[in-house]
Amino acid sequence: MSTPPATSPDGRPPDSPPSDTPAGAVARLRATFRTGRTRPLTWRTEQLTGLRALLTGHREEIAAALHADLRKPRAEADLAEVDFTVREIDHTLRNLEHWLHPEQVPAAALTRLPPGTSAHTRHDPLGTVLVIAPWNYPVQLLLVPVAGAIAAGNTVLAKPSELAPACSALLARLLPQYVDPAAIAVLEGGGETATALLAERFDHILYTGNAGFGRAVLRAAAEHLTPVTLELGGKSPVFVDRGVDLGTVAARLARAKFANAGQTCVAPDYLLADPATARALEGALERAVTELYGPDPARSRAYGRLVDERHFDRVVALLDSGRTVFGGRHDRADRYIAPTLLAEVRPDAPVMREEIFGPVLPVVEVTGLDEAIAFINERDRPLALYAFTEDGHARRRLAEETSSGGLNFGLPVAHLGIPELPFGGVGESGSGRYHGRWSIDTFSHRRACLDVPLD
Ligand code: NAD
Repeated sequence: MSTPPATSPDGRPPDSPPSDTPAGAVARLRATFRTGRTRPLTWRTEQLTGLRALLTGHREEIAAALHADLRKPRAEADLAEVDFTVREIDHTLRNLEHWLHPEQVPAAALTRLPPGTSAHTRHDPLGTVLVIAPWNYPVQLLLVPVAGAIAAGNTVLAKPSELAPACSALLARLLPQYVDPAAIAVLEGGGETATALLAERFDHILYTGNAGFGRAVLRAAAEHLTPVTLELGGKSPVFVDRGVDLGTVAARLARAKFANAGQTCVAPDYLLADPATARALEGALERAVTELYGPDPARSRAYGRLVDERHFDRVVALLDSGRTVFGGRHDRADRYIAPTLLAEVRPDAPVMREEIFGPVLPVVEVTGLDEAIAFINERDRPLALYAFTEDGHARRRLAEETSSGGLNFGLPVAHLGIPELPFGGVGESGSGRYHGRWSIDTFSHRRACLDVPLD
């Protein structure tokens, strides 16, 4: 009688599911975690260094994949995907040892403890983490959470978006060459794969995408009592106060809104301004857009495209929501929609009923700050709230009387690039946070430790 082999050819125990199925991949990552090899600082820094080498060594291929998926301009591919992720990794490599130090706390207890008692907290890895990423920044939004999960000592399963197939395939091919494949796995696929993965038990899930799938993630996670970080979207408002330098405002707004053809979760979604400011902004914004993309953005190499026909049709249907100041041109065969400014938009217009996630900027007129704050508070809490104002009192009121994932005065989107700041939403725009040491908190268990002498 022959004895069965102890393991299958790829190192799995006999009868275990293959590693390229959700169940098999998770079982393999769990087994790796149990060996303890992901815990030492050296393993973590080696993986982060490997990720960094992947990004810097394949800059051209990454840019080509982003171009194929989204016609992403080269400058955006470098800045918002490769360099952004590299800077996040460098920041983590510089600080990780310090972040992981146990934190001593005073051992003053409710009951008397013997002299020599000490108390501290430590960051323990959680185990196996699932990262589900969307298509709009398919490199950054997959690899920054993966880097955080690795830095915290976990094994990770990364699920890229099927709507960015070139990036998904590239990362699935490259990652095993640069990081420990027994600890960091990629599983490609769409909703079916996501659903199959969510049937498995993870120790944490970080999901980035729309709130509809977000609900499915929460429901599935509830079965296993798995904690979830939800990085969702929403309508991020911009309040433009009277009397600000509209040339500067328009230049900063145009760059933040029309990058990636408006498909940015923290893009300014709509403007709130009094009628005179709104009118004066029209010319300033048109000049800013021409400055960025020339007289015909369709011919500009600096301007992207909508990701697919479904999103194209969805955004085109919003174009009639107000008076078109500039833009409005579109071409389905090219998935092109011009940078578009809509004025005198009514609060109940179609463009104000959903996250735009495309290159259309509506302006809603308000009488001033009071009405702007009321308008914001009547709606879902946004991922970001932006304001251009020189008035300290207005800033304080916006900070104290509203709620949003991030609050940014003066340079929309830029708060994401500061790794010391947490990135995440609140309420309908998400829950939890990551980036820098906030990723370590998210992907760790803060363990309470007490040490009482025996004598
Ligand atoms: P998407 O269609 O790529 O979906 C996101 C991920 O969910 C993909 O990996 C997809 O395969 C997966 N998925 C599909 N079906 C699923 C299911 N039934 N259950 C669970 N997961 C499933 O991307 P999207 O949702 O169109 O992304 C755009 C949205 O994401 C916008 O609302 C945007 O604001 C938001 N977003 C948020 C952030 C952030 O950091 N907060 C960043 C980018 C995008």
